[in-house]
Amino acid sequence: MCGIVGYSGAKNAVQVLLEGLSALEYRGYDSAGVSVFTEKGLQTVKAAGRLAVVAERLASHPLPGCCGIGHTRWATHGEPSDANAHPHGTSRLSLVHNGIIENYVELKQFLISNGVTFTSETDTEVVAQLIEYFYEGDILEAVGRVLRRIEGAYALGILCADFPDQLIAVRKDSPLILGYGDGCNFLASDVTAIIRHTRKVGYMEDGEVAVLTRDGIQCYNHLMQPIEKKVSQVDWEIDAAEKG
Ligand code: GLU
Repeated sequence: MCGIVGYSGAKNAVQVLLEGLSALEYRGYDSAGVSVFTEKGLQTVKAAGRLAVVAERLASHPLPGCCGIGHTRWATHGEPSDANAHPHGTSRLSLVHNGIIENYVELKQFLISNGVTFTSETDTEVVAQLIEYFYEGDILEAVGRVLRRIEGAYALGILCADFPDQLIAVRKDSPLILGYGDGCNFLASDVTAIIRHTRKVGYMEDGEVAVLTRDGIQCYNHLMQPIEKKVSQVDWEIDAAEKG
């Protein structure tokens, strides 16, 4: 089990993401990484090993920006390595994934036969490349087309460079929650990653998709119809959450 954190707000995203990933370390992992929208576009720093390795690389290669995604990986497809660490994607897309894409081999063959090249051995990269393959300017539409084709378990956090303050969250058979902040919003594998910032959370159901910006969160059902998400108040203390 690995961890996902996403943030859109006004603070330095890297700091929020590293804090969140650090809170999720208890879940176990073998690699870590972050992607952030910067003035130079979507940029990623990732590495096999401890989160501290990524933090060191970020210290010498800062990613200034206020919206991003982070991931701690527990390898299922492809050894723990820098190349297989998440996020995965293209110059336009960046994606983190928790879970397993069961039909990734046939999808990968389809993409390769259409000229797509891969830089990792993961099942996850297939999802990123498939979104890129279907993308025609409407990222939500491309994600919807991909969700109709992938099988397995997935919590996904997705950035698209054409929509710079926006995160997309998807959940099926892998945990993912939404955090409602003041001028900022979050996605995360669990509450421990975001409780320092907000106690207002929404629990995503299987098949649901959410679009987050710093100003709000819009949720959709599996048919991509807009839905209202119930927001709950977490009343645990940080210590209890971390011990629990
Ligand atoms: N199956 C993906 C991989 O091996 C995600 C693993 C995870 O949940 O961390 O990269």
